[in-house]
Amino acid sequence: MPAQPAQPAPAVARAAAARARFLAELPARYNPWRHLLIPNIYGGLVIASCLVQLGEPSLAAWLVVPAVLVIGQGVEWRFHRDLLHHRVPPLQYLYDAHHVSHHTLYVRGAMAIHDPRELRAILFPWWAIGLLSVLMTPLALALAGLLGRDAGLLFMVSTHAYFVVYEWLHTAYHLPPRSVVHRLVARLAAHHERHHDPALMTRANFGVTTPLWDLLRGTLR
Ligand SMILES: [Zn+2]
Ligand SMILES: [Zn+2]
Repeated sequence: MPAQPAQPAPAVARAAAARARFLAELPARYNPWRHLLIPNIYGGLVIASCLVQLGEPSLAAWLVVPAVLVIGQGVEWRFHRDLLHHRVPPLQYLYDAHHVSHHTLYVRGAMAIHDPRELRAILFPWWAIGLLSVLMTPLALALAGLLGRDAGLLFMVSTHAYFVVYEWLHTAYHLPPRSVVHRLVARLAAHHERHHDPALMTRANFGVTTPLWDLLRGTLR
């Protein structure tokens, strides 16, 4: 694995100063462990409650799972490129939280969090997975009508598992490089670190879970 060339020292120093400011301004009531646990518990409950209702899924119903994995990464790629790195009203919040905040706090060569409270700058808001349920339910019902109930259930399972795994992976990329969890995903972390280069962040490596759609869309660096 080639080492990631560090950003020039001033960029790294600016990121460290921004992280110190971010932590100083974070409300005292913010609890990183609660932020980490709520989406995982909620996602686990959605997944478990769908799995226990499964009958005997047809091949078509099972194919929903790989379809979600591949199409989901395409959605992630486009969401990241078009909404997280461009200010699009009325979704400016996404741009401010990601392009402005996340990419200022973490740059190539200075990717690691040093305090659990920095999870506030890594994870989606705790309620985002609830919004995912709201958005995915009509699609699940449509799939259930088309391919049977199991297809709808497997769609809910795979979309929620996808979201949870996305959060695990992105968090792992931002853990200290020597930690066991970070080393397990070192290649993917290196891909994401190149995206955190200010010169590349609006042009390359928008895939966070895997580089698949960067490969397909010619944005792999
Ligand atoms: Zn990141
Ligand atoms: Zn980004």
